[in-house]
Amino acid sequence: MNLVLLGPPGAGKGTQANLICEKYKLSHLSTGDLLRIEIADKSEIGVKAKKIIDEGKLVSNDIIINVIKSFFNNNKNSSGYLLDGFPRNTEQAKLLNKLMLELEEKISCVIQLDVEEKHLKERIISRSKEEGRSDDNEETLLKRLETYFHETMPLIKYYDELGLLKKVSGVGEIMHINQSINLIIDHL
Ligand code: ATP
Ligand code: MG
Repeated sequence: MNLVLLGPPGAGKGTQANLICEKYKLSHLSTGDLLRIEIADKSEIGVKAKKIIDEGKLVSNDIIINVIKSFFNNNKNSSGYLLDGFPRNTEQAKLLNKLMLELEEKISCVIQLDVEEKHLKERIISRSKEEGRSDDNEETLLKRLETYFHETMPLIKYYDELGLLKKVSGVGEIMHINQSINLIIDHL
């Protein structure tokens, strides 16, 4: 089983991804987390990525390909994958299709975590106090939202037309949202 989690910054993708992976024994691919590891390591990729992330833009697909390839190399023979933060634009969606073909796998379902914009700001501001991410500030968030609307939202239509999209409200109790997601997965 291979799942994709789609949603705006602050939707709770990471939180739900951890719960889903634990329950269904999936390998968690979070391109955001992997990029933050590169940044902490001050690697060549990390240095390049930090500048772009702090501008609220998407890092180049070249960098993403690099990160994705090493993830799949390190997670061979997994019983399934949960993709969190990837794909984020149409080019990456095509890349994912190619990758699935190579692995002789399929995307089982794309779960859209739906959260209204008014909640996102509060969440990002409170997370910035806990985690201290340099892109979690009001100014960068506005740019991240703009990037999401322009580059990532088209994927919602794309996967809907393929019959793969399931929408879940990302507002409310974490465990309640999680139950809604589990219901969808159990019916796949
Ligand atoms: P949240 O962590 O609340 O889900 P988010 O989705 O904005 O918010 P991450 O997925 O951690 O956060 O990504 C942080 C940043 O890393 C993005 O704003 C972007 O610059 C970069 N990034 C992550 N994944 C990709 C990707 N697939 N393609 C391009 N850039 C990416
Ligand atoms: Mg995240």
